[in-house]
Amino acid sequence: MPARFPLALLPTPLVEAPRLSQALGGPRLLIKRDDLTGFALGGNKVRGLEYYLAEALAQGADVLVTGAGPQSNHVRVTVAAARVAGLEAVAVIHGERPPVALGNLLLDELLGAELRFTGSPDRAQVDVEIERVGAELAAAGRRPYLIPRGGASALGALGYLAAVSELGAQLAELGARPAWLVLATGSCGTQAGLLAGIKLFGAPYRLLGITVSRPVAECCERITRLAIAAAALAESPITVLSEDVVVRDGYIGAGYGIPSPEAAAAIRLAARTEGLFLDPTYTGKGLAGLIGEIKSGRLSPDDTVIYLHTGGEPGLLAHPEVAGLEALA
Ligand SMILES: *Cc1c(COP(=O)(O)O)cnc(C)c1O
Repeated sequence: MPARFPLALLPTPLVEAPRLSQALGGPRLLIKRDDLTGFALGGNKVRGLEYYLAEALAQGADVLVTGAGPQSNHVRVTVAAARVAGLEAVAVIHGERPPVALGNLLLDELLGAELRFTGSPDRAQVDVEIERVGAELAAAGRRPYLIPRGGASALGALGYLAAVSELGAQLAELGARPAWLVLATGSCGTQAGLLAGIKLFGAPYRLLGITVSRPVAECCERITRLAIAAAALAESPITVLSEDVVVRDGYIGAGYGIPSPEAAAAIRLAARTEGLFLDPTYTGKGLAGLIGEIKSGRLSPDDTVIYLHTGGEPGLLAHPEVAGLEALA
């Protein structure tokens, strides 16, 4: 395995959610609290970042360059990680600089990140701009280390490959044998790493991704490619079958990062049953998807289901409109 720079406080808790489970009419729900990865307000991006940071330091980098949207959890933890390692950080953000920095953007400002707004809503433009900023810094004599938008690459996926073994030990202790692990899928690195780990460690459950951003076909292609590449980096080749990659759509709503009434209802339900906060971009839509799967009967009340809480709570605080949306669900 490639080297890690430790950032996360592991293992993250695996907890029962009996009141949420009851409100949904079963299944038994276990929540893997990766919102509590313990670094810079946590979330799923911390696990992969450990590999990026180790590689950046090994290459003698002096500045991390990455990018995403204005409420990016990935950007927040990347900038914080740069600070811990004594590096500078530049983040490319799509769109215009908002008049007030809320949520993740507020934290980026506090961390002293250099934020470069593209001025365009086109998310793919961020990828081009990350490369351009990297070239600009290199030409100025700096040593940039580039991390792709959202942190999704084979190297970043290793964080969730390893998490499967962490989760396996917790399930053994509980004596639980889940049928499914459900998560919100964005740039697909998390689902890819989990899939590689499930194959390598022979985990008994299947993965169900709820896409919050990309079309299903694009997710499946990315997950397959990244899972194979992550396993290769771990020097354990795997093959991926099409039935290994399950991604459900129907929960994106008006678009990526735009809160939906269903997500708002799911956020409120999690808060009122378990005192648990979800976010409108990822984990709220993911839980809305899990609820949809229960309603459609694809998840049965007799199943045990793990929901991966991938974090993102700072983003909730940038979306006060969520409080009024639930009534529309
Ligand atoms: C990035 C993110 C996801 C999605 O993870 P990917 O690896 O991009 O698919 C889910 N939840 C939260 C809170 C995130 O920040």
